[in-house]
Amino acid sequence: MIASSVFRSVMVVALAAFVSSEATGQQRTAAPKNVILMIADGTGASAIAATGMYAGKLGKQVFDGPEWTKTWSSTYPLRTGENPASGPAGLAQDPNAVYDPAKNWDTTPVTTTTGQFADRFAGYAWTKKTAPDSANTMSAIVNGHKSYNNAINVDGNGQPVTTFAEVESRAGKAVGVVTTVEFADATPAAGAGTHNVSRAAHQAIASEMLNAGIVSVIMGTGNPNYDNDGVRRAAPDYGWIGESDWTALKAGTHKSGFKLIEDKAAFDALPSAANPPRKLIGIARSFNATQMYRRGAAPASETPYSVPRKSDVPDLPTMARGALNILDDDPDGLFLVIEGGAVDRAEHADNLGRMIEEKTEFDSAVAAVSAYLDANTNGNNWSNTLVIVTADHDHLLLGPDSDTVPFQDLTDKGAGKVPGYKWQSNSHSNRLVPLYARGAGAALVTGCARKNDAYTDGQGRHFGRGAYLDETDIFAVMNGTGCR
Ligand SMILES: [Zn+2]
Repeated sequence: MIASSVFRSVMVVALAAFVSSEATGQQRTAAPKNVILMIADGTGASAIAATGMYAGKLGKQVFDGPEWTKTWSSTYPLRTGENPASGPAGLAQDPNAVYDPAKNWDTTPVTTTTGQFADRFAGYAWTKKTAPDSANTMSAIVNGHKSYNNAINVDGNGQPVTTFAEVESRAGKAVGVVTTVEFADATPAAGAGTHNVSRAAHQAIASEMLNAGIVSVIMGTGNPNYDNDGVRRAAPDYGWIGESDWTALKAGTHKSGFKLIEDKAAFDALPSAANPPRKLIGIARSFNATQMYRRGAAPASETPYSVPRKSDVPDLPTMARGALNILDDDPDGLFLVIEGGAVDRAEHADNLGRMIEEKTEFDSAVAAVSAYLDANTNGNNWSNTLVIVTADHDHLLLGPDSDTVPFQDLTDKGAGKVPGYKWQSNSHSNRLVPLYARGAGAALVTGCARKNDAYTDGQGRHFGRGAYLDETDIFAVMNGTGCR
């Protein structure tokens, strides 16, 4: 065992140097041993503020501490079209989609609409019309290239791009992805290093996650046998995994070697399991998300937790700690993607109550990861582990008077109270999102944040977030090269 592990380490070092220069063209001088990438899908500044206000911890959440480096990230797509295009035109950046403070914060009144929502100000209209989706944004984060909406780790031509999951896997590290939504949805699919010209190819993506040999831990929903309330279906729904993959997993005979768990109790046992499976896929007994789509009240008036949460599905902190307990058996290190996927779903439903629930669960996962590193669990701590907490993109959630007061912030009504708010859309925006980093190489974030978000309108009103990077820079930070 020792001899083979030494041999493996030597091989891994040689391979890591090769892979890094191939993938980035730069030496990974400061590459951290472990990278934990935490994505609260769709979570911009207002979602963070709403959750902080409700919790009575605005500005005092775990990622607000002085140990964390904070900046902002742009999330714009290569273009808003949803198909690859050939030739140089397919790789060209649409100049109007590029984040521009003057366009984003434009307070000129307008009378246009986007979908069912009045645009009200030119900035609202621009940020909605140029918004990215979760496929191209997560891909940009994990492969460093912009692409079209719908792209999973392919460029504007539809050609595969090397991902961080592949870089780390080839370097001998253990890779995993856990989420509160379907395991083959865009964000976990991109995080796991799959490639597809369309995020909608769920069965192919699921098969690639299982069979490509990149990831050894997968957790989420998409269970063919259960509906969104966890009720067993009369007939399976293979919307998120093909019948042959599912049948083999259920029989314990999948050629990938993945072991399937479904029971909440099995998820709950993982964080402290002495000998967990080396390759595990956990598919909770729910279809589209763990909690978000349970039956409930009218979205517009539902307050957090007023509809009891399901008790038969795992929560994100448990999935995160369970994944770490498996991945950290690899002495070479780990790369874990943790997604709070249903924050975005609640925002699409314009349901602030459930958005706060989902973001609160995500924040608990950040706390669980922090506690794991604080305790130097299995030798993993802040000196050998980089943690990034960010979003893939934002929505347009603003203050209660934002129809007339441009870009008004939410209004704090105290702990346990839903803040004053107004949805200005039921879909994504192109606004900057907050980014927090801590641990090995976190300071590289600062060097990447070279642009400045500032705008003063004709009435002398100042807007802007300050320094920001682009989400493609996160790839360089995780690689340990930073931006040069
Ligand atoms: Zn979305």
